[in-house]
Amino acid sequence: QAQSQQGNSAVIYTENLSVNERERLALETQLSQALDRGEFELFYQAQCDLNTRRLSGFEALLRWRHPDGLIPPDRFIPIAEESGLIVPIGRWVLHQACRQAKTWHDAGRDRPVMAVNISPRQFQHPEFMATVREALRDSGVDPCCIELEITEGAMMDDAESTIAKMAELRALGLHLAIDDFGTGYSSLAYLKRFPIDRLKIDRSFVRDLGRDEEGAAIVQALIQLAHSLGMTVVAEGVEDSHQEACLRDWRCDLMQGFGYARPLPEPGASALLEAHRAESMHDG
Ligand code: C2E
Ligand code: MG
Ligand code: MG
Ligand code: MG
Repeated sequence: QAQSQQGNSAVIYTENLSVNERERLALETQLSQALDRGEFELFYQAQCDLNTRRLSGFEALLRWRHPDGLIPPDRFIPIAEESGLIVPIGRWVLHQACRQAKTWHDAGRDRPVMAVNISPRQFQHPEFMATVREALRDSGVDPCCIELEITEGAMMDDAESTIAKMAELRALGLHLAIDDFGTGYSSLAYLKRFPIDRLKIDRSFVRDLGRDEEGAAIVQALIQLAHSLGMTVVAEGVEDSHQEACLRDWRCDLMQGFGYARPLPEPGASALLEAHRAESMHDG
C-alpha cells in the first residue's frame, strides 16, 4: 500500500464506519457549512386561545433547506446538539425569530408572542445570556413577547444554576415555557421551584386523550397541575375538533396543532396574521 504512515489511522477509522455513521458524518460536515450558505429557514406555527380561537402567537420552527430537499429538525437537531453546532445555529434562530416578531409587532396593534426553542446545550452554554441580550438589543423587540421553550433535559443537571439562569432571563422580561412536558424525567419537586410561566403538554398525550379514560385523566391532571403552580397551558399537536372540545372543557388555555394551523414559511404566516387582524377589526 502506498499510504503514508500519517494517514493510516484516519483511513482505517473511516473504513470501519457503518453506512449510518458515514451518512451522519457527511450530514455533520454539511451542517457545519449550512449557516454560512444561508440554508436555514424558520417556519412559524400559530397558537390560539382555546376559548376565542384567536391567534395569540407563533412558535418558530427551524428548517434546513439542504440541496437535496427540506430536512426536518428531528433529523439534524440531535447532530447539531452533539457536535455543538447548535450553539451558533441556535443563536441565528434567536436573532431571526426576534427580528420577525418585531416586524409583526410594527405592522399591527396586537403583539403576538414568539416562542423559540432552546436546546439543552444552548441553554447551558456560558455565552447564552449574552446571546439573548444581543438578540433583544439588535431586534428592538419587546422582551415580554418572547417566550423561550426549554425541555426538561436542560433543567436537570444542576437545579440551582438552572433556577439562577431562569431568574436572569425573567429579569430581562422574557417568558419561559417547558416544552414536551411529561416526556422527560423531571421531578415534580423541582417543577415548583422553577420560575416558569407556561407548560406545553406533549402531543403524545394529546393524541391519547380520546383513546381511553386514562389518556383523558393524564391530560386533565397535567392541566390542573400547571394551573395550581400558576402556569398557563398549551396543548401541542391538536389535530381534531374532539381533542379541541375536550381541552376547552378542561380549561386548557392555548392550543397549537394542525387543527388550527400548520407550520408555515414566513409569507404564509404573515398572511395568516394579517387575515386574523382584519377579522379582529370587524369583531371590534
Ligand atoms: P417541538 O418544539 O415540540 O415542536 C412541535 C413539533 O410538533 C413541530 O415539529 C411541529 O411541526 C409538530 N406539530 C405541531 N402540530 C402538530 C400536529 O397537529 N400534529 C403533528 N403530528 N405534529 C405537529 P418540527 O417542526 O418537525 O420540530 C420538531 C422538533 O425539533 C421540535 O419539537 C423541537 O424540539 C425541535 N426544533 C425545531 N426547531 C428548533 C430550533 O430552532 N431549535 C431547537 N433547539 N430545536 C428545534
Ligand atoms: Mg417547541
Ligand atoms: Mg413540544
Ligand atoms: Mg415535540
